[in-house]
Formats: sequence, structure tokens, C-alpha cells
Amino acid sequence: MTTDNEEEKSSRPKKTDAYESRCFGLVGGVALLADLKTLVNAGYVRKSDGPFYCRACLSEAIVRKCSDKEDHFAHKALVTPTGQNKDTAFHHGVRDELFGILKERFPLGNWKTEVKIVDESLGTFIPDIAGYFGERNKAFPAVAVEVQLSPYSPSYIRKKTTFYAKKNIHVLWVVPLTRPLEKAVFRPRRYELYLHSMYLGYVFYYEPDKNGLLTPVHYGPAMRYIEPKTFFDENAEEQHVGNFYLKYKTLKEPKTGDEVFLADAVAKISGAWENPNNKRLNLPERKIMVTPQKRWWEKDENKQWLKENDWVAYARKYLPQYEPDDDYMGEEAEDEQ
Ligand SMILES: [Zn+2]
Repeated sequence: MTTDNEEEKSSRPKKTDAYESRCFGLVGGVALLADLKTLVNAGYVRKSDGPFYCRACLSEAIVRKCSDKEDHFAHKALVTPTGQNKDTAFHHGVRDELFGILKERFPLGNWKTEVKIVDESLGTFIPDIAGYFGERNKAFPAVAVEVQLSPYSPSYIRKKTTFYAKKNIHVLWVVPLTRPLEKAVFRPRRYELYLHSMYLGYVFYYEPDKNGLLTPVHYGPAMRYIEPKTFFDENAEEQHVGNFYLKYKTLKEPKTGDEVFLADAVAKISGAWENPNNKRLNLPERKIMVTPQKRWWEKDENKQWLKENDWVAYARKYLPQYEPDDDYMGEEAEDEQ
């Protein structure tokens, strides 16, 4: 085996962690101790020395000691319980349940599962469920329900959404859950963040046997409290720090809206959007099914903490690698409602 392969092998877990966590802060095998000041190397600590924290995103990190790989740190984060990737029985169960509910509510809606929809230029797509919120005519929106189980890439979701918009179909993406969501701070996956942006600030989750009641969840900023501390610096001067909050880069606080019955979702058209600072972050024009509820989170929630916190000086001095913003899709794409 060549040196290059060995190199690739040893760096793979770190790359994967960096991809999934959207943070490169642990690449290099260094993390912070709980004081958020002491840097330690994965090769020189034991698990019992933890908890460890990433110096870029402040998430908790775990140390991994493997015989065939270099010791390294990985981000530890709660993710939503969405089931296994290839669990088709679970996927079909949720699909059939929602299909039955829609057929019963809109008996003239021509409901079908897995029907091929073809477009000459954009190709063929197969929605999990498709039909009309009413009758099969132009007065009622044609709707595709997508039961999102596989971690589709944002570019695939974008393509499918563009396709539906062109076909004048409103899409309702639902993320199925295997158990209830926890109230705790968690890390959304990439596709969840993309759906969050597409739906102007929330994602619909669904637990089987909830009679068609969807739970819209907004991802609010999550904060870490920094305890007040007094100490003497290298010049023997007394320093007072702390008593403020630092925003996590990729962790979010779930803010649940009112449950909404699947068939009560309403049609909405939203224009294309592009982040002026980063053109990679963009949304197509889309036709979506949304909750009728008004925004249930603070409008300027991401800015609030900047105003009320004296954290900049601290971060500059003690956390030079700290990154408060997820440059992936962290900010709201639009500000409507
Ligand atoms: Zn990190």
C-alpha cells in the first residue's frame, strides 16, 4: 500500500467529521478543555480528561483512540431521530399513512404514490405521494408530498423543487421521525438546513400514528453560557471575564410551532434567492405547502445576542479560532411573513 493511501485512510475520519459537522475546528487533533482556554492534543489525553470542546464551533468533542488511525477528536452532537437510511419499511409505512389521510380528506384528489412525472428538459421525478388538495382541476393546488428519509444532497432537493415549480406542483417535504424530538440543542443535517431555508425558517417533522399532524420546527440560535471568572493574566493584572453567551456555530435550539394537519397546509410561491455574500447559497423559485401559522420566533434572533453580549474581546483573546456563523446555510434565506 502506498504512502498516499495511508495518508488518505488516516485523514478520512476527520474529513468525514468535518463534512458532517460543517466545522474544520477539530482537524489537526486539537481541542479545548472545559475551561475553554487549555488546548490539548488527542494523542496526549484520555477519555476521562473530557469533556472536550471544539475551538471553532464550541460543540462538545469526543476523543477517538483507534489502533489503525491517528488519535483524533470528533464532534459530538445530537441529531434528529430520522431512522436508518435504507429502512424502506419505515419509509413506506409513513408514506402509506399520509397517503391514506390525504385520500380520505380529498377523495376527488386523484391521489397516487410513486407516480412518474416527466418533463422533456428537466427529466423524470417520482414523488412519494401526489394529488390535488381538492379536486383534479386548476382551482386546487397539485401537491407532491416527499417523505424525506435518505439524506439527499441540497443540490438534489433544489433540482427536484425546480422541477415541481415548473410543473406547477406545490411540494410538501416531511421529515419522518422514529421517536419524538427532544427539546435539547441539536445539530441539523445539511438537508435539514436546506429544507429550513426553503420553507423560510422551519422544517416539517412527522411521527407515525400522529393522524396527519405535522410539527413545524424552527432552528433558533443556541447559546453557551460563559461563567464569570476572575484571574490574573501574564502581567499579574486582575481580569474579569464571562457572564455572557457565545453562539454555537452549528448547533440549534428547536422552536416548535403549532402542530398542523397535513391537509390544512396552504400553497405558497416563493421567489428565487441568493446570498449576496456567497452565491453558492441559493434557493430556486419554489412552490411549497406551508403552515398557516405566522412566524413564531423572534425576527432578529440572530442579531440579538451580538447586541447584548460583551463577548468579542474575550473571543479575540482566548478563542481566536471561534466561528459564530455557519457559512453553510445558517442564516434565514428570506424575511417574509
Ligand atoms: Zn467544531
